[in-house]
Amino acid sequence: MGCTCRNHFPVDIDVVIEANCLAKLPSYLESRNCRHVLVVVDQNTYRAAGKSVLECLSENSFAHALVCLQPNEQEDVVADEVALVQIFMEASPDVDVFIAVGSGTIHDLVRFVSCKLQRPFVSIPTAPSVDGFASSGAPLVIRGAKVTIQAAPPVAIFADLNILQEAPRHLLAAGFGDMLGKCTALVDWTFSCLMADEPYCETAAEWTRQALDSCLSRVDAIVEGKAEGIEILMRGLIQSGLAMLLVGHSRSASGAEHHLSHYWETDFLEHGRPQVLHGAKVGVATGIISGLYKNLFEHLSPDDCSQLSPHYEALRDLVFQIPEPGLIKDYLRRVQGPALPEELGIDRMLVNEALHKAYRLRERYTILRFINENNLWNRLAQE
Ligand SMILES: [Zn+2]
Repeated sequence: MGCTCRNHFPVDIDVVIEANCLAKLPSYLESRNCRHVLVVVDQNTYRAAGKSVLECLSENSFAHALVCLQPNEQEDVVADEVALVQIFMEASPDVDVFIAVGSGTIHDLVRFVSCKLQRPFVSIPTAPSVDGFASSGAPLVIRGAKVTIQAAPPVAIFADLNILQEAPRHLLAAGFGDMLGKCTALVDWTFSCLMADEPYCETAAEWTRQALDSCLSRVDAIVEGKAEGIEILMRGLIQSGLAMLLVGHSRSASGAEHHLSHYWETDFLEHGRPQVLHGAKVGVATGIISGLYKNLFEHLSPDDCSQLSPHYEALRDLVFQIPEPGLIKDYLRRVQGPALPEELGIDRMLVNEALHKAYRLRERYTILRFINENNLWNRLAQE
Protein backbone atom coordinates (compact mmCIF):
# COMPACT_ATOMS: atom_id res chain seq x y z
CA MET A 1 0.00 0.00 0.00
CA GLY A 2 3.07 2.22 -0.05
CA CYS A 3 3.59 5.29 2.03
CA THR A 4 1.41 8.36 2.35
CA CYS A 5 3.74 10.15 4.77
CA ARG A 6 4.69 13.41 3.13
CA ASN A 7 7.58 13.54 5.48
CA HIS A 8 9.22 11.03 7.76
CA PHE A 9 10.26 12.31 11.15
CA PRO A 10 13.94 11.95 12.08
CA VAL A 11 14.73 8.74 13.96
CA ASP A 12 18.08 9.52 15.50
CA ILE A 13 18.21 7.84 18.86
CA ASP A 14 21.42 6.17 20.02
CA VAL A 15 20.19 2.73 21.01
CA VAL A 16 22.54 0.52 23.03
CA ILE A 17 21.22 -2.90 24.08
CA GLU A 18 23.87 -5.00 25.79
CA ALA A 19 25.06 -6.29 29.12
CA ASN A 20 26.86 -3.67 31.23
CA CYS A 21 26.14 -0.80 28.85
CA LEU A 22 25.57 1.57 31.80
CA ALA A 23 29.36 1.82 31.87
CA LYS A 24 29.15 3.72 28.59
CA LEU A 25 26.86 6.41 30.02
CA PRO A 26 29.56 8.85 31.30
CA SER A 27 31.44 9.07 28.01
CA TYR A 28 28.13 9.47 26.16
CA LEU A 29 27.07 12.39 28.40
CA GLU A 30 30.50 13.94 27.97
CA SER A 31 30.27 13.66 24.20
CA ARG A 32 27.06 15.72 24.40
CA ASN A 33 28.63 18.25 26.77
CA CYS A 34 26.25 17.39 29.57
CA ARG A 35 27.60 18.05 33.07
CA HIS A 36 24.48 18.59 35.21
CA VAL A 37 22.25 15.58 35.41
CA LEU A 38 18.81 15.13 36.96
CA VAL A 39 18.02 11.46 37.55
CA VAL A 40 14.36 10.46 37.96
CA VAL A 41 13.47 7.17 39.67
CA ASP A 42 10.89 5.63 41.98
CA GLN A 43 11.64 3.41 44.96
CA ASN A 44 11.78 0.24 42.87
CA THR A 45 13.78 1.57 39.97
CA TYR A 46 16.22 3.22 42.38
CA ARG A 47 17.09 -0.24 43.67
CA ALA A 48 17.07 -1.81 40.19
CA ALA A 49 19.32 0.70 38.45
CA GLY A 50 19.12 4.22 39.91
CA LYS A 51 21.69 3.52 42.60
CA SER A 52 24.24 2.27 40.03
CA VAL A 53 23.54 5.27 37.77
CA LEU A 54 24.22 7.68 40.64
CA GLU A 55 27.43 5.87 41.60
CA CYS A 56 28.57 5.97 38.02
CA LEU A 57 27.86 9.73 37.82
CA SER A 58 29.68 10.41 41.13
CA GLU A 59 32.75 8.43 40.11
CA ASN A 60 32.95 10.49 36.95
CA SER A 61 32.38 13.82 38.76
CA PHE A 62 29.09 14.82 37.16
CA ALA A 63 26.94 17.31 39.07
CA HIS A 64 23.71 15.47 39.75
CA ALA A 65 20.45 15.47 41.65
CA LEU A 66 17.85 12.80 42.22
CA VAL A 67 14.05 12.84 42.13
CA CYS A 68 12.40 9.80 43.71
CA LEU A 69 8.74 9.78 42.69
CA GLN A 70 6.28 8.90 45.45
CA PRO A 71 3.51 6.35 44.97
CA ASN A 72 -0.14 7.39 45.56
CA GLU A 73 -2.60 5.84 48.04
CA GLN A 74 -3.01 2.80 45.79
CA GLU A 75 0.78 2.33 45.81
CA ASP A 76 0.99 3.33 42.13
CA VAL A 77 3.41 5.86 40.69
CA VAL A 78 1.13 7.70 38.28
CA ALA A 79 2.10 10.07 35.46
CA ASP A 80 -0.06 12.87 36.86
CA GLU A 81 0.29 16.56 37.72
CA VAL A 82 1.60 15.78 41.23
CA ALA A 83 4.51 13.78 39.85
CA LEU A 84 5.17 16.42 37.17
CA VAL A 85 5.46 19.15 39.81
CA GLN A 86 7.82 16.98 41.83
CA ILE A 87 10.20 16.81 38.85
CA PHE A 88 9.81 20.48 37.85
CA MET A 89 10.70 21.53 41.41
CA GLU A 90 14.05 19.75 41.24
CA ALA A 91 14.85 20.87 37.70
CA SER A 92 17.20 23.79 38.39
CA PRO A 93 18.18 25.93 35.40
CA ASP A 94 21.66 24.40 35.15
CA VAL A 95 20.34 20.87 34.58
CA ASP A 96 21.43 20.04 31.05
CA VAL A 97 20.19 16.46 30.75
CA PHE A 98 17.48 14.29 32.33
CA ILE A 99 17.81 10.58 32.88
CA ALA A 100 14.65 8.48 33.16
CA VAL A 101 15.36 5.29 35.11
CA GLY A 102 12.36 2.99 35.02
CA SER A 103 9.51 1.71 32.94
CA GLY A 104 6.75 3.49 31.01
CA THR A 105 5.35 5.89 33.62
CA ILE A 106 8.68 7.46 34.56
CA HIS A 107 9.58 7.81 30.90
CA ASP A 108 6.30 9.59 30.14
CA LEU A 109 6.87 12.10 32.93
CA VAL A 110 10.49 12.81 32.02
CA ARG A 111 9.60 12.97 28.31
CA PHE A 112 7.12 15.75 29.05
CA VAL A 113 9.31 17.77 31.45
CA SER A 114 12.45 17.53 29.31
CA CYS A 115 10.49 18.67 26.26
CA LYS A 116 8.97 21.65 28.12
CA LEU A 117 12.38 22.70 29.47
CA GLN A 118 14.07 21.98 26.13
CA ARG A 119 16.69 19.67 27.58
CA PRO A 120 17.52 16.22 26.20
CA PHE A 121 16.68 13.07 28.11
CA VAL A 122 18.36 9.70 28.24
CA SER A 123 16.35 6.53 28.76
CA ILE A 124 17.46 3.74 31.05
CA PRO A 125 14.70 1.12 31.01
CA THR A 126 14.55 -1.18 34.02
CA ALA A 127 12.11 -3.69 32.51
CA PRO A 128 11.06 -4.75 28.98
CA SER A 129 7.49 -3.74 29.86
CA VAL A 130 6.22 -1.36 27.12
CA ASP A 131 7.04 -0.21 23.61
CA GLY A 132 6.90 3.46 24.50
CA PHE A 133 10.56 3.99 25.44
CA ALA A 134 11.54 5.35 22.05
CA SER A 135 8.33 7.19 21.18
CA SER A 136 7.45 10.85 21.57
CA GLY A 137 3.90 10.66 22.94
CA ALA A 138 3.47 11.14 26.68
CA PRO A 139 0.22 9.68 28.07
CA LEU A 140 -0.47 11.66 31.24
CA VAL A 141 -3.32 11.65 33.75
CA ILE A 142 -4.47 15.25 34.23
CA ARG A 143 -7.39 15.99 36.59
CA GLY A 144 -8.11 12.28 36.64
CA ALA A 145 -8.44 11.94 32.87
CA LYS A 146 -5.97 10.43 30.47
CA VAL A 147 -4.49 12.67 27.76
CA THR A 148 -1.65 11.91 25.36
CA ILE A 149 0.61 14.88 24.72
CA GLN A 150 3.24 14.98 21.98
CA ALA A 151 6.59 15.55 23.63
CA ALA A 152 10.08 14.39 22.65
CA PRO A 153 11.80 11.03 22.33
CA PRO A 154 15.00 10.30 24.28
CA VAL A 155 18.34 11.14 22.65
CA ALA A 156 19.67 7.76 23.74
CA ILE A 157 18.49 4.48 25.23
CA PHE A 158 20.85 2.42 27.35
CA ALA A 159 19.13 -0.94 27.79
CA ASP A 160 21.42 -2.85 30.10
CA LEU A 161 20.64 -6.56 29.84
CA ASN A 162 22.04 -7.21 33.33
CA ILE A 163 19.41 -4.85 34.76
CA LEU A 164 16.56 -5.99 32.49
CA GLN A 165 17.16 -9.64 33.36
CA GLU A 166 16.43 -8.87 37.01
CA ALA A 167 13.05 -7.29 36.20
CA PRO A 168 10.03 -8.97 37.82
CA ARG A 169 8.32 -11.56 35.63
CA HIS A 170 4.99 -9.70 35.43
CA LEU A 171 6.74 -6.72 33.80
CA LEU A 172 8.29 -8.97 31.16
CA ALA A 173 4.87 -10.55 30.57
CA ALA A 174 3.39 -7.06 30.16
CA GLY A 175 6.02 -6.12 27.57
CA PHE A 176 5.19 -9.27 25.67
CA GLY A 177 1.46 -8.40 25.91
CA ASP A 178 2.11 -4.94 24.47
CA MET A 179 4.02 -6.62 21.62
CA LEU A 180 1.17 -9.09 20.98
CA GLY A 181 -1.13 -6.09 20.49
CA LYS A 182 0.63 -5.44 17.18
CA CYS A 183 -1.18 -8.51 15.76
CA THR A 184 -4.46 -6.59 15.73
CA ALA A 185 -3.05 -3.04 15.59
CA LEU A 186 -1.41 -3.69 12.21
CA VAL A 187 -4.68 -5.05 10.77
CA ASP A 188 -6.63 -2.06 12.07
CA TRP A 189 -4.07 0.25 10.49
CA THR A 190 -4.46 -1.34 7.05
CA PHE A 191 -8.24 -1.21 7.52
CA SER A 192 -8.14 2.51 8.40
CA CYS A 193 -6.05 3.23 5.33
CA LEU A 194 -8.29 1.28 2.93
CA MET A 195 -11.61 2.37 4.39
CA ALA A 196 -10.96 5.87 5.71
CA ASP A 197 -7.87 7.08 3.85
CA GLU A 198 -5.89 7.42 7.04
CA PRO A 199 -2.12 7.88 6.62
CA TYR A 200 -0.17 4.68 6.08
CA CYS A 201 3.56 3.97 5.93
CA GLU A 202 4.91 0.67 4.66
CA THR A 203 8.28 1.23 6.37
CA ALA A 204 6.72 1.73 9.80
CA ALA A 205 4.41 -1.24 9.23
CA GLU A 206 7.36 -3.39 8.21
CA TRP A 207 9.47 -2.41 11.24
CA THR A 208 6.55 -3.27 13.49
CA ARG A 209 5.82 -6.57 11.74
CA GLN A 210 9.49 -7.57 12.01
CA ALA A 211 9.52 -6.70 15.70
CA LEU A 212 6.40 -8.81 16.27
CA ASP A 213 7.66 -11.75 14.21
CA SER A 214 11.03 -11.79 15.95
CA CYS A 215 9.28 -12.05 19.33
CA LEU A 216 6.69 -14.63 18.24
CA SER A 217 9.34 -16.84 16.68
CA ARG A 218 11.39 -16.84 19.90
CA VAL A 219 8.75 -17.12 22.59
CA ASP A 220 10.73 -20.00 24.13
CA ALA A 221 13.79 -17.78 24.66
CA ILE A 222 11.64 -14.95 26.04
CA VAL A 223 9.93 -17.36 28.45
CA GLU A 224 13.34 -18.44 29.72
CA GLY A 225 14.01 -14.84 30.74
CA LYS A 226 17.75 -15.00 30.12
CA ALA A 227 19.82 -12.34 28.35
CA GLU A 228 19.10 -13.69 24.87
CA GLY A 229 15.30 -13.65 25.21
CA ILE A 230 15.28 -10.33 27.04
CA GLU A 231 17.32 -8.84 24.24
CA ILE A 232 14.89 -10.10 21.58
CA LEU A 233 11.89 -8.66 23.44
CA MET A 234 13.62 -5.36 24.21
CA ARG A 235 14.82 -4.92 20.63
CA GLY A 236 11.30 -5.62 19.40
CA LEU A 237 9.72 -3.13 21.80
CA ILE A 238 12.21 -0.41 20.92
CA GLN A 239 11.79 -1.06 17.20
CA SER A 240 8.02 -0.73 17.53
CA GLY A 241 8.63 2.59 19.30
CA LEU A 242 10.93 3.76 16.50
CA ALA A 243 8.19 2.98 13.96
CA MET A 244 5.84 5.32 15.83
CA LEU A 245 8.54 7.95 15.89
CA LEU A 246 9.09 7.67 12.14
CA VAL A 247 5.46 8.48 11.31
CA GLY A 248 4.71 10.75 14.26
CA HIS A 249 1.66 8.78 15.43
CA SER A 250 0.99 5.41 17.02
CA ARG A 251 -1.21 3.69 14.40
CA SER A 252 1.42 1.00 13.76
CA ALA A 253 1.35 -0.04 17.39
CA SER A 254 -2.10 0.77 18.66
CA GLY A 255 -5.53 -0.25 17.38
CA ALA A 256 -8.76 -1.45 18.96
CA GLU A 257 -6.87 -3.60 21.51
CA HIS A 258 -5.29 -0.41 22.88
CA HIS A 259 -8.67 1.35 22.88
CA LEU A 260 -10.08 -1.40 25.12
CA SER A 261 -7.05 -1.06 27.38
CA HIS A 262 -7.45 2.74 27.61
CA TYR A 263 -11.15 2.36 28.35
CA TRP A 264 -10.45 -0.04 31.22
CA GLU A 265 -7.70 2.20 32.52
CA THR A 266 -10.03 5.21 32.61
CA ASP A 267 -12.68 3.15 34.40
CA PHE A 268 -10.13 2.07 37.02
CA LEU A 269 -9.03 5.70 37.48
CA GLU A 270 -12.64 6.84 37.96
CA HIS A 271 -13.21 4.20 40.60
CA GLY A 272 -9.90 4.76 42.40
CA ARG A 273 -8.80 1.20 41.73
CA PRO A 274 -5.08 0.33 41.63
CA GLN A 275 -3.78 0.34 38.09
CA VAL A 276 -3.10 -2.77 36.02
CA LEU A 277 0.01 -2.78 33.82
CA HIS A 278 -0.59 -1.36 30.34
CA GLY A 279 0.82 -4.38 28.51
CA ALA A 280 -1.16 -6.84 30.66
CA LYS A 281 -4.40 -5.15 29.56
CA VAL A 282 -3.28 -4.93 25.94
CA GLY A 283 -2.38 -8.65 25.82
CA VAL A 284 -5.79 -9.69 27.16
CA ALA A 285 -7.57 -7.22 24.86
CA THR A 286 -5.70 -8.62 21.84
CA GLY A 287 -7.26 -12.04 22.44
CA ILE A 288 -10.75 -10.48 22.63
CA ILE A 289 -10.28 -8.38 19.50
CA SER A 290 -8.84 -11.32 17.55
CA GLY A 291 -11.94 -13.38 18.37
CA LEU A 292 -14.29 -10.53 17.49
CA TYR A 293 -12.69 -9.74 14.13
CA LYS A 294 -12.61 -13.39 13.04
CA ASN A 295 -16.22 -13.78 14.12
CA LEU A 296 -17.16 -10.75 12.00
CA PHE A 297 -15.46 -11.91 8.81
CA GLU A 298 -16.89 -15.41 9.23
CA HIS A 299 -20.39 -13.92 9.18
CA LEU A 300 -20.07 -10.94 6.91
CA SER A 301 -20.34 -11.14 3.12
CA PRO A 302 -18.94 -8.62 0.61
CA ASP A 303 -22.49 -7.37 -0.10
CA ASP A 304 -23.18 -6.46 3.49
CA CYS A 305 -21.53 -3.11 3.15
CA SER A 306 -20.81 -1.45 -0.20
CA GLN A 307 -17.89 0.47 1.24
CA LEU A 308 -16.26 -2.76 2.30
CA SER A 309 -16.74 -4.81 -0.85
CA PRO A 310 -13.69 -3.63 -2.88
CA HIS A 311 -11.38 -4.58 -0.02
CA TYR A 312 -13.35 -7.48 1.41
CA GLU A 313 -11.03 -10.31 0.44
CA ALA A 314 -7.80 -8.56 1.31
CA LEU A 315 -9.16 -7.63 4.71
CA ARG A 316 -10.63 -11.06 5.41
CA ASP A 317 -7.24 -12.65 4.61
CA LEU A 318 -5.50 -10.28 7.01
CA VAL A 319 -8.01 -10.95 9.77
CA PHE A 320 -7.70 -14.71 9.30
CA GLN A 321 -3.91 -14.37 9.65
CA ILE A 322 -4.24 -12.89 13.16
CA PRO A 323 -3.32 -15.63 15.66
CA GLU A 324 -6.43 -17.38 17.01
CA PRO A 325 -7.62 -16.14 20.43
CA GLY A 326 -6.67 -19.53 21.88
CA LEU A 327 -3.11 -19.14 20.63
CA ILE A 328 -2.88 -15.60 22.00
CA LYS A 329 -4.01 -16.85 25.43
CA ASP A 330 -1.50 -19.67 25.16
CA TYR A 331 1.35 -17.21 24.43
CA LEU A 332 0.31 -15.09 27.42
CA ARG A 333 0.17 -18.11 29.72
CA ARG A 334 3.61 -19.22 28.58
CA VAL A 335 5.18 -15.91 29.63
CA GLN A 336 3.19 -16.29 32.90
CA GLY A 337 1.00 -13.28 32.19
CA PRO A 338 -2.75 -12.89 32.66
CA ALA A 339 -4.77 -14.16 29.68
CA LEU A 340 -8.37 -13.40 30.68
CA PRO A 341 -10.08 -10.15 31.72
CA GLU A 342 -11.23 -11.69 35.03
CA GLU A 343 -7.59 -12.16 35.97
CA LEU A 344 -7.20 -8.38 35.74
CA GLY A 345 -10.35 -7.69 37.77
CA ILE A 346 -12.31 -6.78 34.63
CA ASP A 347 -15.77 -8.37 34.54
CA ARG A 348 -17.97 -9.29 31.55
CA MET A 349 -19.92 -6.05 31.86
CA LEU A 350 -16.82 -3.86 31.62
CA VAL A 351 -15.57 -5.91 28.66
CA ASN A 352 -18.87 -5.38 26.84
CA GLU A 353 -19.06 -1.73 27.72
CA ALA A 354 -15.56 -1.21 26.29
CA LEU A 355 -16.44 -3.10 23.10
CA HIS A 356 -19.37 -0.71 22.54
CA LYS A 357 -17.82 2.56 23.69
CA ALA A 358 -14.01 2.44 23.59
CA TYR A 359 -13.82 3.36 19.89
CA ARG A 360 -15.02 6.86 20.81
CA LEU A 361 -11.86 7.49 22.81
CA ARG A 362 -9.82 8.26 19.73
CA GLU A 363 -10.35 9.68 16.28
CA ARG A 364 -8.97 6.60 14.61
CA TYR A 365 -10.70 4.15 12.33
CA THR A 366 -10.65 0.51 13.38
CA ILE A 367 -12.70 -2.57 12.60
CA LEU A 368 -14.18 -2.16 16.09
CA ARG A 369 -15.39 1.33 15.16
CA PHE A 370 -16.76 -0.05 11.88
CA ILE A 371 -18.76 -2.71 13.77
CA ASN A 372 -20.22 -0.11 16.09
CA GLU A 373 -20.97 2.54 13.47
CA ASN A 374 -22.65 0.04 11.17
CA ASN A 375 -24.39 -1.71 14.03
CA LEU A 376 -23.09 -5.13 13.03
CA TRP A 377 -23.33 -6.68 16.49
CA ASN A 378 -26.37 -8.78 15.51
CA ARG A 379 -24.39 -10.30 12.64
CA LEU A 380 -21.94 -11.91 14.98
CA ALA A 381 -22.24 -15.42 16.32
CA GLN A 382 -23.05 -15.25 20.03
CA GLU A 383 -20.65 -17.12 22.25
ZN1 LIG B 1 1.04 -0.18 24.07
